[in-house]
Amino acid sequence: MRDDVKAVQVVWLTRTGLTNLNSGEGGSNLVDIKKYRFAGQEYPYVSGQAMRFYLKEALRRHLPPDQACVADDQGETCGRIGECVLCDLFGFMTTLPDVGAVTRVSPVKVSPAMGLVPLDGSLTLDFLTRRHRGALEQGEMTGDIVNVELAVNVYKGGLCLDVERVGREEERYVLGETGGRRPKAYYSLRFREHIDGQERACRIGLLLDALQDFSDYSKQARLLTDFAPDVLLVALQHNYSHRLQKALEVDGAANVNVARLAQVLEEVTPDCLTIDGRPAIWAGLLDGAIGNAEAVSAALHQAGVPVSTPRRAIEAAKAALGV
Ligand SMILES: [Zn+2]
Repeated sequence: MRDDVKAVQVVWLTRTGLTNLNSGEGGSNLVDIKKYRFAGQEYPYVSGQAMRFYLKEALRRHLPPDQACVADDQGETCGRIGECVLCDLFGFMTTLPDVGAVTRVSPVKVSPAMGLVPLDGSLTLDFLTRRHRGALEQGEMTGDIVNVELAVNVYKGGLCLDVERVGREEERYVLGETGGRRPKAYYSLRFREHIDGQERACRIGLLLDALQDFSDYSKQARLLTDFAPDVLLVALQHNYSHRLQKALEVDGAANVNVARLAQVLEEVTPDCLTIDGRPAIWAGLLDGAIGNAEAVSAALHQAGVPVSTPRRAIEAAKAALGV
């Protein structure tokens, strides 16, 4: 794996069918959709916590049980950075015997997935009945009716991986001592390695794979949804930043703001590695996912960004990174 990459950054759009990916507080007979309000309109969103859960479950499918723990009754996980891929990548807050409370900041940062089409005009209410057997024959409508909000939308999601912190932990150490009559120690931070380079590469590869096929969303028994990226940008950066997250601005008709895209690509290029004389950014574009795909492709080509499908773009980034 290359050792000059500080961040792997991904931003994507995905168009869903009729679904409810993340429920709000709801009521006794209502399963609502989590919503945010902007400029007087309501939009759906999927929380960052839910996105992290989906990614974890996708990783779990490819890991043996001892490398992917689950939380105990107190909601605490194992905290074994060396052995547990999920605790390493997603961090934890846990209490360890003889050590006390231990927290690890997740090297994987995800954004909430924000719906970009107003719910007014895209929301419907489906109802699900839990009818008791035989009730119909008696001509009675007994049983419970639960209303489920469903909507079609285009979501924007994002992920940034702090590559240096995968499999490593920051620890404070004594840098030296001041002079004088009463010397005082001064400190700095350094990384403690928990795993070797090959295992680090393997974990990063697994995370990027999970992004292509994460699928353990709630309510899938009735709402089979593909929420994986349709339009995607992935970058290898030698400087840690989140700037690429602003590249895909979409209006209510699912047209990407092309001027903004070109500007953000220009802004992130100095943070990116240079590979074959162009910035280490790859794009994937599924036909029909956005309104102005041709203009978007042209802007990407102009910026030296090769355009293929989302999976090929991630494969190219993985190959360049060496994972
Ligand atoms: Zn664990």
